[in-house]
Amino acid sequence: MQSQNRVAVIGAGIVGLSCALWLQKKGFSVTLIDPDVPGSGTSSGNACTIADYGCIPVNNPSIFKRLPSLLFSKNSPLTVNISYALTHLPWLLKFLSNCRPSRVSKIIDSLGLILQQSYQGLNPLLELSESQHLMAQKGCMHVYETLAEFKAARVTNEIRRQQGSEYIELEHADIINLEPKLKPIFEKGILFESASQTLDPQSLSTRYFNCFLKSQGTYMSQRVVETVSDGDIVKLKLDSTDSPLTFDHVVIAAGAFSKKIKGIGAKHLPLDTERGYHIQYANLQSNVSRPISWSQAGIYATPMNDGLRFAGTVEIAGNSLKKNQQVLDYITRKASQMFDLPHQPDQDWLGFRPTLPDALPVIGHSPVSDRIIFAFGHHHLGLTLSGITGKLISELLNNEPLSLDISAFSPDRFN
Ligand SMILES: Cc1cc2nc3c(=O)[nH]c(=O)nc-3n(C[C@H](O)[C@H](O)[C@H](O)COP(=O)(O)OP(=O)(O)OC[C@H]3O[C@@H](n4cnc5c(N)ncnc54)[C@H](O)[C@@H]3O)c2cc1C
Repeated sequence: MQSQNRVAVIGAGIVGLSCALWLQKKGFSVTLIDPDVPGSGTSSGNACTIADYGCIPVNNPSIFKRLPSLLFSKNSPLTVNISYALTHLPWLLKFLSNCRPSRVSKIIDSLGLILQQSYQGLNPLLELSESQHLMAQKGCMHVYETLAEFKAARVTNEIRRQQGSEYIELEHADIINLEPKLKPIFEKGILFESASQTLDPQSLSTRYFNCFLKSQGTYMSQRVVETVSDGDIVKLKLDSTDSPLTFDHVVIAAGAFSKKIKGIGAKHLPLDTERGYHIQYANLQSNVSRPISWSQAGIYATPMNDGLRFAGTVEIAGNSLKKNQQVLDYITRKASQMFDLPHQPDQDWLGFRPTLPDALPVIGHSPVSDRIIFAFGHHHLGLTLSGITGKLISELLNNEPLSLDISAFSPDRFN
């Protein structure tokens, strides 16, 4: 092995695992470090969609029109914890300032560019880890209660089409035909026919992890507290021992918690979290054949191997507060508007989307050292973009031509 080849990947969510597998494919010797079970964080509880049509950021111009009702209605998919918001005003203002049409159109182009390559990053890993059975491709449906809502969404849906995500329009009868157990409350819909999903994100991560171990990967169940760049090497300090570990390169993939690691050069990055929730009903997956997004309600209904999951909502409240029961009650109400559900959910969950206010991930070299590389901030699209992020990181470290221009994702863009 060449002496330049020892890489540590910090964080074993779906992004870190994907980086680790791609780096191994390129011949690097990889150590994966995470104190928790690989894949068990935010990556385990999402809506499971490979949302390559997801180029429209949450903070788009329509948010201004909807903001009062989103903020003050009890029936809203957006919740803002006021005391948290007051102490994080600069982030919120940056988030809103990115809703300007000129800014949004640039963000859409950058997201569109990377989303188009989602499967180029994902498919080789599914094959390598023999995980294809954990995927399904029956499309993804977006539904609208009224014609007015559908018409209002037409502009953004057309943009998705221009960015390469083809869809067909659905009438009320088509929706019932495709999803007979969905209550007949939706007037119009669209279907991204080629969209796919995972049926079990935790099992997907576990398969990636086992594949990583089989290919001579090293795993350390440890928390990294600090990185120290020292010439051609990077030292890692762990919270359990005083003796640092030494690597040639370090990839930071700790999701919403990345900035907590000292010394990585991320102080200037406005990384925060959009909290999201799910509830799940065991064994009720036969209610639906494919993920259904009710965008006005901010939730997806997704069939899983072991149940029916309703996932989504956005709560701005940081990463230390406990679950907000009001948000869970909201999702439960919306779920029973969509389907006849015989009992209360069997499970609920809170996760932390790593989000920058311009809704773009951070992929690139740290300003403090070329030997530290960032791979975090994938907000609503971390599962979708995990594979292509891993591929890009492996290309960066291997000094290869990159699959796409990543300047829009540069860590320097907030300087
Ligand atoms: C409700 C909801 C629905 C979603 N739906 C979708 C969807 O349908 N499609 C999609 O593409 N995306 C979706 N997402 C987004 C997606 O789940 C996230 O973007 C993705 O999981 C982020 O992955 P990650 O690996 O960056 O972070 P995580 O999964 O959070 O992993 C980070 C890991 O880093 C570890 N870590 C943290 N600090 C340290 C440290 N100091 N040292 C070592 N390790 C550390 C943590 O233990 C954790 O395991 C959804 C998110 C939510 C909340």
